[in-house]
Order: sequence, then C-alpha cells, then structure tokens
Amino acid sequence: MNAPSATSPGAELWFTERQTPDLALSLRVVRTLWQETTPYQELLVAETASFGRLLALGGTVQLTERDEFFYHEMLAHVPLAAHRAPRRVLVIGGGDGGTVREVLRHPGIERVDLVEIDAAVVRAGREYFPSLSAALDDPRVRVHVGDGIAFAAAAGAGDYDAVLVDSTDPVGPAVGLFEAPFFRSLARLVGPQGIVVAQSESPLLHGELIAATAHAMAEAFARVSLYLCPVPTYPSGQWSFLVATQGADPSRPRPGASPSGTRYYTPAVHAAAFALPPYAAAHLEGVGR
Ligand code: SAM
Repeated sequence: MNAPSATSPGAELWFTERQTPDLALSLRVVRTLWQETTPYQELLVAETASFGRLLALGGTVQLTERDEFFYHEMLAHVPLAAHRAPRRVLVIGGGDGGTVREVLRHPGIERVDLVEIDAAVVRAGREYFPSLSAALDDPRVRVHVGDGIAFAAAAGAGDYDAVLVDSTDPVGPAVGLFEAPFFRSLARLVGPQGIVVAQSESPLLHGELIAATAHAMAEAFARVSLYLCPVPTYPSGQWSFLVATQGADPSRPRPGASPSGTRYYTPAVHAAAFALPPYAAAHLEGVGR
C-alpha cells in the first residue's frame, strides 16, 4: 500500500503509486482524510496539495478532483452521444458517482443502475466527493451493491441501451470484467442497437491487455473500436476505452447530442479521440470492425 507516510516531524507527506516496477507517480499530500481496509481493497482518501482530493484503491489512483473530468466525460459521453436515443443505462463499478454524474447530463435518460461491489467506495464518495456522488441521489438512479458480473448475467435481454464499465484494473473482483463471458452478458443486455464501453487501461503500458479485451469483446459484438484521452494521474498519462456495437459507428456523435457543461468533451473531441496513432492501433490488429 502506498499510503502517505512521513518519517520525521515537519517532513513532507507524499502519496506514491508505483505504476510499474520502474515508474512512479507522486502527489504531495496535505492530510489523510480516510483510510480503510474493505473486504475488497485498501481504500484511501487524501487531500493533495494541488490536485484536490484523491481516491486510491489498492494503492492506485482512481480519481483526483482536478483531473477526473477527462475520464468521466469520455467514458460517458462518447457512447451516449453515439447511441441514437439512450434512455436506460447500466454503470458497472464507478461507485464514486463521477460517471453517473456525466450520464445524467443527457436529457433523455430515464433510468441509471449503478452496480458497485464495494459499499465502502460509495460511502467514501458520499462523504468526501460530493461533486461526484450527488448524482447518486437523483431519482432516476438506483445504486446496487454487488458484483457487476452476476448483475449482468441476471438482468433481462434488452434491459439497457448502454452499459458503461467503470472498473478498477483487472485484479481481484475486476478480472472478470475484462473477459468474454461478461461481454456476452452485456451483448444480450443491450440488444442489437445497444452500445458498451469499458475503460481499458494505458495504451502505452497495457497493450496486451487491450488486445486481449478487444478480442473478448469481439466474441460478442460485430464492431470493436478504441479511443483515447489524457488522464494525467493515470499510468503514462494517456488512457484508453474499448467501445462495442453490433455495427453502428461509435466515432460519430449524433447531431444535437452534445451535453452541456462539459470541460473536455465536445463532438469534435469525440471524433478526434478515435484517430489512433499507429502504436495504439496495433493493439486492435485482427479484431473485426
Ligand atoms: N476510474 C477508475 C480507474 O480506472 O482507475 C475506476 C474507478 S471506480 C472507483 C472502479 C470501481 O470498480 C471500484 O470502486 C471497484 O470496487 C469496482 N469494481 C471492481 N470490480 C467490480 C465488480 N466485479 N463489480 C462491480 N464493481 C466492481
């Protein structure tokens, strides 16, 4: 665990995430606000010197208040602006509420189910990240504490228009969120017109994972695409998302679909995010699209 620690009085406190054995990110911490060993992971909330509050799980940065908008906007708005008329959305993971906040910017949304396995993440979000978690109190939102894989397997065919997988790295209970049986459940849930997106880690550091996840998605979907955005506090600073449909082109936002109040997302950013540099496009080699 990379919890902040100080070795002598007056020493600076730093949170350090070892992103690889040879690469680390450090944020200077003003004070630790909450630390807990949940049944699933080590949870830490800290006030940083210049990135606002930090949520870390298992020693890895999940969000900082300063740069969370890149990730949450791009996870939510790309699939919802590409879908012809999203009304019912399932979010798996994302117990902090940031993704749900962005989903609710789309005026047609009637129902959002959020399935988070760790109740402590929802509690910490409500206590320390009200600008994200306030969305969970919207009357259209239902919060379920449980395993997203089991939830998806039990939900009905065609129950959702879009599924957004806002997961931790593929360790512990999140491993199955990157595998083919889960994506087969999601294909059944969203039907032929639906859309599914999953955060898929760093294109620089996790190419093999992206390739394996894309192949797993392609077992259930006709079209699998990758798009990118910056997330300064995630490993390598650039993040990726895999998006799957049964043929619809996810790179084209529907006219008039752009939500208001965004800080990163625009229709032009949406389209540009699918322009892949060759090193990233290589992760999708052999995947049908
Ligand atoms: N933005 C983040 C990132 O990429 O680092 C992800 C944030 S969100 C906090 C991830 C959430 O997924 C965690 O709260 C974790 O508890 C949840 N999670 C992991 N496995 C899960 C599963 N099988 N079902 C539901 N939620 C899960």
